Amino acid sequence: MRFDVVTIFPEYLAVLDVSLLGRARREGLVDVHVHDLRDFTFDRHRTVDDTPYGGGAGMVMKPEPWALALEHVAAQGPAAPAEPSSAAPGDRPVLLVPTPSGERFTQRFARELAEREHVAIACGRYEGIDERVFGWAEELFEVRLVSLGDYVLNGGEVAALAMIEAIGRLVPGVVGNPASLVEESHEDGLLEYPVYTKPADWRGRAVPPVLLSGDHGKVAAWRRAQQEERTRERRPDLWAAYDSED
Ligand code: SAM
Repeated sequence: MRFDVVTIFPEYLAVLDVSLLGRARREGLVDVHVHDLRDFTFDRHRTVDDTPYGGGAGMVMKPEPWALALEHVAAQGPAAPAEPSSAAPGDRPVLLVPTPSGERFTQRFARELAEREHVAIACGRYEGIDERVFGWAEELFEVRLVSLGDYVLNGGEVAALAMIEAIGRLVPGVVGNPASLVEESHEDGLLEYPVYTKPADWRGRAVPPVLLSGDHGKVAAWRRAQQEERTRERRPDLWAAYDSED
């Protein structure tokens, strides 16, 4: 699977060299290419922003450097057709645009994207990217505007890192034991049960006795009850959706 990230801070993505994702990259399971948006400018100052039409605070990212960068990325993909606009919608790479005004990035969304061959990510800064870029990019990509949550970051890089990690760990072979992916929070609409390791008694706090019982049925029932209780208490929104599916 290939990721292309366009940013004005390529060095921000250096952490993708460490841990599980770093190993997956070295083993060729996940391929990540980072592009500097300023390489697609032609003025002396390598300008990527300008003042907003209609006035207001802050600067907006100019459309042309984005168009040139995204054309370059689309042409690099594993399945890039000779004539990009002739590609069927399912064949087009996905372009993720992190923005607080996008649809919520979820585990389900990550699973869907882990099936794709090529995912590009456009990291905005300042007040964001000129809106016309997204409509224009539909010719080359399936464009999805995505939010990490209801708060505002300084730029799309942190969102890109989070999404690459969430998607990348679902690519077969990246996480050593695939069973560990199945039981995680959000996989079945519930939060994960609490986990414990040795020693059984730590600073006066004991592990719940059922986990030492060796009775797999009882352990499974206890874990399920914990999942439900946690979800009900901590995430009433998830609980309501889960409860209504019953
Ligand atoms: N003016 C924008 C607004 O109010 O929607 C916020 C711009 S923010 C300062 C700069 C960039 O950070 C955005 O273009 C986006 O790439 C990224 N960003 C900020 N918050 C985000 C979030 N919750 N999810 C994903 N990306 C985010």
